[in-house]
Amino acid sequence: MDQPNKNDAEFAEQLAVLRRRFADQLTDTLDELNRLMAGRGPNLPRDLLLQIHLRLHKLVGAGSTFGFPELSVQACALEEMVKGWLEGNKSAPRDQWKIWLEGLQALRASILVQDDLIEFNSVPEPVTSRLAARGVVRVAMVHSDESFSLMMCRGLRQFGYIVSAHQDLRSAPDELLSNPPHIVLMESPSDDDENDSIRNAVASLVGQKGRQAALIYFTRRADFPIHLLAAKMGAEAVFIQPVDVPMVAARIESLVRAREQQPYRVLIVEDDEALAEHYRLVLQAAGMLAERVSQPSAVLIALQALQPDVLLMDLYMPDCTGEELARLIRFDNAWQSLPIVLMSTESDLSRQGQALSSGADDFLLKPISDAQLVVGMRVRAARARKVAELMNQDSLTGLLKHASIKDRLTQEVDRARRNGKPASIAMVDIDLFKRVNDNWGHPMGDQVIKTLGNLLRQRLRRPDSVGRYGGEEFMVVLPECSESDAIRLLDDIRQRFADIVFRSGEQEFKVTFSAGIAVSTPGCEAHEMLAEADKALYEAKKSGRNQIRKLVVGKGSEHVDPAP
Ligand code: GH3
Ligand code: MG
Ligand code: MG
Ligand code: MG
Repeated sequence: MDQPNKNDAEFAEQLAVLRRRFADQLTDTLDELNRLMAGRGPNLPRDLLLQIHLRLHKLVGAGSTFGFPELSVQACALEEMVKGWLEGNKSAPRDQWKIWLEGLQALRASILVQDDLIEFNSVPEPVTSRLAARGVVRVAMVHSDESFSLMMCRGLRQFGYIVSAHQDLRSAPDELLSNPPHIVLMESPSDDDENDSIRNAVASLVGQKGRQAALIYFTRRADFPIHLLAAKMGAEAVFIQPVDVPMVAARIESLVRAREQQPYRVLIVEDDEALAEHYRLVLQAAGMLAERVSQPSAVLIALQALQPDVLLMDLYMPDCTGEELARLIRFDNAWQSLPIVLMSTESDLSRQGQALSSGADDFLLKPISDAQLVVGMRVRAARARKVAELMNQDSLTGLLKHASIKDRLTQEVDRARRNGKPASIAMVDIDLFKRVNDNWGHPMGDQVIKTLGNLLRQRLRRPDSVGRYGGEEFMVVLPECSESDAIRLLDDIRQRFADIVFRSGEQEFKVTFSAGIAVSTPGCEAHEMLAEADKALYEAKKSGRNQIRKLVVGKGSEHVDPAP
């Protein structure tokens, strides 16, 4: 089991401490219940019945989580009884009082029964998260069509991937086995038999050193059985030939990025602090970043600070219900797409329906096993990230859209102001792009735009962002990047792009770009940097194109000598 953030023993000990604390407090809780009840049963005033109900309800949820499933069962029976009273059903069994006392005894007994430690269920990490970190990305191309293979290999190498070509995976050379690829591109198997032997070959290849390659299939048939076959083999994508290199490069990029992404963030809102801490520890041990708040009133600030991928929230809390809090959170447009998952032991369907219509997305039924919790949060976080990514993505290049890259710039300028480290931006504009369209056609123009987009993405560091600012114009945001680093980076990309050979039929052509760089100064604003970068870009165009110009905000334009 991967538990990147904690070593197993420490984690188990932390859980055990919570569990012991829970058991110690149970006696007090039971005494409190007895005191509240004061021998009166159904005739108790409503507010006291509600308090009793809430305490029992908490026990139902917490019991199994802390490793006392029998406690949950017993508490649930009592909760049902009290709920009946609350709903005005006073004709419960005559000897209610006896049932109540026996129930409490059973609760006490149930905690003494088991004394073994809670098992933390292992949950495997998804395939894509095991890909290589940025740096060398090895791609194996396995295809019987030599010219197609050659075209793909050559194209992908221009993006900086290490690509090897192979006729057949089953006779994979030692080199492949000793240095397993991160991405395998292959021809889809044509029948089940072939599929089986390829499955074995893939398994032996990806089993190497515990690493798992991501599989991408090429096929000439766009039918359902082929897609199903690919899905069964665990492929991440299927491309229908003829296929274009930038599309494949874009897919490889997104697979590699999945590995590099930040841990999923989960905010837990739960008034029972011990329970919340248990959830937090379990999610953290599974590699997520989890934080908890116990006061509903603290949730907005916590949301702002953590920017979670998922909000996990108890349905029953002292000052407000989960539904009410979900509704309140949705007042703010910024949280419209945040998945809100309510935890409840509530088996009442109408109550769930009410919660869903008020802004929650989903339910997890308490008690929740550790494994359910981890999988539940991971799946929802992954889906939420994917949706957010698509919403902010430009459809041609897969880069951030205009508004998103501008937001990113504002964030980075704010951050630069706080930490005193300069941020740089570059406005990149393709040279004489109208001619590309005129000479080679609009679709070829699109290809050029996509290629530059992928090249930018491939050459940037992890914290950098790149967006499609306009038609053939890009914005690159470089946090904590000095002027000289920004210039070096952009000039390297400039040269690489200028070397790429585009093909249209039998003819070949090359394209260049110009860029304007601006570096933040203390106290400058995002819009000022944008204006300066634009001015620098204009200077670059005026001075002959295919060059990088920079400006320091507040000073004049400075030409950057092309690299020797
Ligand atoms: P300069 O070096 O001064 O930038 O010259 P330019 O020809 O690139 O000039 P300009 O930036 O004004 O032209 C951009 C052209 O890009 C105009 C527009 O037709 C084309 N364009 C904008 N968006 C797209 C697109 O998505 N696809 C294609 N193929 N062309 C686009
Ligand atoms: Mg609660
Ligand atoms: Mg242009
Ligand atoms: Mg332009």
